[in-house]
Amino acid sequence: MKYQWILFDLDNTLTDFDVASHAAFEKLCEELLKVDYTPELYASYKVHNGSMWQAFERNEIDTKYLRWKRFDLFFKANDIEFDSHEANKFYLFEMTKAATLKVGSLDLLKKLHGDFKLAIITNGLQENQRTILDNLDLTKYFEAIIVSDEIGASKPSKEFFDITFDTIGQEAIKSSLVVGDNIGSDIEGAIGYGLDSCWFNEHGKVNNTDLKPTFTISRIEELLDCIYTN
Ligand SMILES: [Mg+2]
Repeated sequence: MKYQWILFDLDNTLTDFDVASHAAFEKLCEELLKVDYTPELYASYKVHNGSMWQAFERNEIDTKYLRWKRFDLFFKANDIEFDSHEANKFYLFEMTKAATLKVGSLDLLKKLHGDFKLAIITNGLQENQRTILDNLDLTKYFEAIIVSDEIGASKPSKEFFDITFDTIGQEAIKSSLVVGDNIGSDIEGAIGYGLDSCWFNEHGKVNNTDLKPTFTISRIEELLDCIYTN
């Protein structure tokens, strides 16, 4: 078989980040902030969170700043007075509790484990990603877990993949497949590094980039066809 290593993204590939984030935000509103949850509030949070992650990806801020500043901006925009550090801590903890697997991802890992070497390559915060993997009892499936926040580099940067292959071994470059839902970080990063990629396009998004993933799948179990027949 062509591939020996399968490098998985975590959020919205193996786990349902969107569901966990939404649940954590609702709890934050109702239990900590004591404001009524509305979809508009969540949309506003997502705008500020997204702008902070973009600033991080441009190397303008670090994740320590991102953690609280996203809530600071959100509070100012919505006339909420609350400690943004405390809100962030509560939200992150609730995220780890609300984390769930995507349908089919556990069966997939069980099938692949033993036939392939598996690694997690994730852009995310240290306290979240490791705890979520432990809570979902997934850690045992992976030879390596690379978290952007821990290494100070994120997908799609070359540096992120340099550190990944420093960790799992340079020989893995020839036999790795990157699997992820985000064309701008997972697929761009893989292609930029000369790796094969599988775009998990669950929601049928239009690819309006010039990037051409090696495979595109809409259900995670379709990955089995891609790797056992290549
Ligand atoms: Mg993802």
